[in-house]
Amino acid sequence: MTTDTKNNKPDTGVVDVCPIGVIRSCYTEKFGIPRQPGMADKARARIELLAPYDREEMVKELDVFSHIWVQFLFHDAIKEGWKPTVRPPGLGGRKRVGVFASRSPHRPNHIGLSAVRLFEIDRKSGLSLLVGGGDFLDGTPVLDIKPYIPYSDSLDGAGPGYSGENRAPVHVCFLKEAERFCYQYEQETGRELSGLISQVLRQDPRPASQRGRKRSFGFRLWDINIRWEVRNNVFTVVECRRVQELL
Ligand code: SAM
Repeated sequence: MTTDTKNNKPDTGVVDVCPIGVIRSCYTEKFGIPRQPGMADKARARIELLAPYDREEMVKELDVFSHIWVQFLFHDAIKEGWKPTVRPPGLGGRKRVGVFASRSPHRPNHIGLSAVRLFEIDRKSGLSLLVGGGDFLDGTPVLDIKPYIPYSDSLDGAGPGYSGENRAPVHVCFLKEAERFCYQYEQETGRELSGLISQVLRQDPRPASQRGRKRSFGFRLWDINIRWEVRNNVFTVVECRRVQELL
């Protein structure tokens, strides 16, 4: 970045950034993704590094860290642009705040930032990082990865602002057939499905506008379509099916 000598301001022209990786995430659609990382620690994703950033020396000593920061593009929000104010779902979708006072995907450069658990660096095919607890949509482009450093990143005394969680607890249960499907799927794939479904539903992903009105909902994790019904604050998973069976 050069300095514009006339009025001594940094010339903040357009800078090129390019993805260094892409995320294969359990969240194959936006509906149901928790609003922040760590709210569903059974979420799993694989960050596949892209050439020329997929060189071993670029991740040397990364695996001594338990967590990493991931900077990424809200690629599925770019087409919707951005606005100076947004209505965070955590405030019931009614109150407007400045976009810089939010973590909305609809922000000027559509850049996201999440701290996630680093489980493993996988070198079997290419170079990828297996991470847990993310809030990434499948296909998310990654701009940068950095180690999470507790002595500087976890800030004692940091206040919650308006982000306090004030929602009625939700009870999640499964119909027998749905529970059986999850068990078989977990045996086949090694993916924790029922635990992740419960964690997602406990966040109550319903849009504020649909609470108290609609009774049955559906969302997708990996290649599974999950249907669930709401009665009072009991969310019952009524059916899990592979997506290709529905096509
Ligand atoms: N922790 C990040 C941050 O603070 O920048 C993300 C917070 S944002 C509120 C999380 C939401 O972004 C998810 O619930 C999901 O709806 C959305 N999201 C995740 N990945 C996305 C993508 N690639 N494109 C658009 N939206 C995405």
